[in-house]
Amino acid sequence: MNKGILIVVSGASGTGKGTVCKKFLEENPEIYYSISATTREPRVGETDGKEYFFITREEFKTWIDEGKFLEYAEVYGNFYGTPLHKIEERLNRGESVLLEIDTQGALNVMEKIPDGVFIFLLPPSLAELRSRIENRGTESPETLERRFNSAKGEIEVGKKYRYVVVNDSVDEAAKQIKNIFVAESCRTERNLSTFESLK
Ligand code: 5GP
Repeated sequence: MNKGILIVVSGASGTGKGTVCKKFLEENPEIYYSISATTREPRVGETDGKEYFFITREEFKTWIDEGKFLEYAEVYGNFYGTPLHKIEERLNRGESVLLEIDTQGALNVMEKIPDGVFIFLLPPSLAELRSRIENRGTESPETLERRFNSAKGEIEVGKKYRYVVVNDSVDEAAKQIKNIFVAESCRTERNLSTFESLK
């Protein structure tokens, strides 16, 4: 059986990666979304075990010590990590997995799982990025400024990704991720077991 594909999506704060990933997953329900653990407080409407596993700093440290993370990073003063649990198991079963993580985490995953599909989402412009961060309304003025400045820096890291998708429209961006996924799944090296079965 061919292995599943690990898709990693990153993008600066305000790029709309959450919305794009949600759309992509709705249209491709066979792809498993990896729920991260975080030490940040849940936002209104977020549920433990759905958007994130909300854990304390102590618990997070224990998970690190116990080797439970594929990667983890500190983002805006909080910790975020991808639980290793189930990812390898699913990939080996031929199921594909999507991670929506920051650039530090993605660079670590590039080292560990180089055959992952790394996609960087770009905003159509800096003005649009700023207004998206502002319109979210969840940020205080300092956090807003901090997020905007670090977003500009993060965009540079995007050059290290194999693919880039501009989020002009959520539907189009989700479609492009799907196209990348389909092309990747047709790569020869991902289909060696199909060749084997035809011998
Ligand atoms: P937010 O607090 O807005 O949900 O997420 C903040 C940032 O953390 C986003 O860039 C998001 O992609 C990133 N993030 C979420 N989960 C993980 C994770 O498991 N690992 C890493 N490295 N970053 C994550």
